[in-house]
Amino acid sequence: MKLDGILPFARTLLEKSVPVNGVAIDATAGNGHDTVFLAKLVKEHGTVYSFDVQEQAIEKTNQRIQEQDVKTQVQVIHDGHENIDLYLKQEHQNGINGAIFNLGYLPGSDKTVTTTPDTTIEAIGKILNELKKEGILVLVVYHGHHEGKVEKDQLLPFVRNLPQEDYHVLEYQFTNQKNDPPFIIAIEKR
Ligand code: SAH
Repeated sequence: MKLDGILPFARTLLEKSVPVNGVAIDATAGNGHDTVFLAKLVKEHGTVYSFDVQEQAIEKTNQRIQEQDVKTQVQVIHDGHENIDLYLKQEHQNGINGAIFNLGYLPGSDKTVTTTPDTTIEAIGKILNELKKEGILVLVVYHGHHEGKVEKDQLLPFVRNLPQEDYHVLEYQFTNQKNDPPFIIAIEKR
């Protein structure tokens, strides 16, 4: 067998947790690839909330969902994921099946716009509260740059201390690779 790489493993987790007609969050839209992936999982009667703070990311994501013909089920939101409570429809409360965060900065764009520990942790807390039982929140942690290391160092204690009666927390990481490649934290609501 061949072990899943980091990005394929993130997608495997989402495939297993996000059903047709489900509700999913792309917390960091970036170029919109994960938004489209989630939109294809939930199909036209499901819902994907897709957040980004960068105009360029919002434009790219809007363009991509149009091209891929998945606009109906996607709500693109030009705001920080930490404000998710302002956008989540009442009927989706406690009903989120899956969420993904790709942390760090968007390659090829403004490197000063990165995710930050406080807002990332705030958003995780809010999403965990609204996850459905057996719903999954996936974090892809990029820590090859300085801000990424700072973020990782705050995130790990936070997720490792989540109560085990309520959540399963998984870290999936190739530990013998050079240059601090990204790794996954997955949190499942029990
Ligand atoms: N490091 C990844 C890509 C991360 S993209 C890789 O190499 O593939 C991260 C995205 O998160 C960027 O588009 C950035 O604009 C966005 N972002 C930063 N802070 C945010 C916030 N508070 N809410 C939503 N999106 C945010």
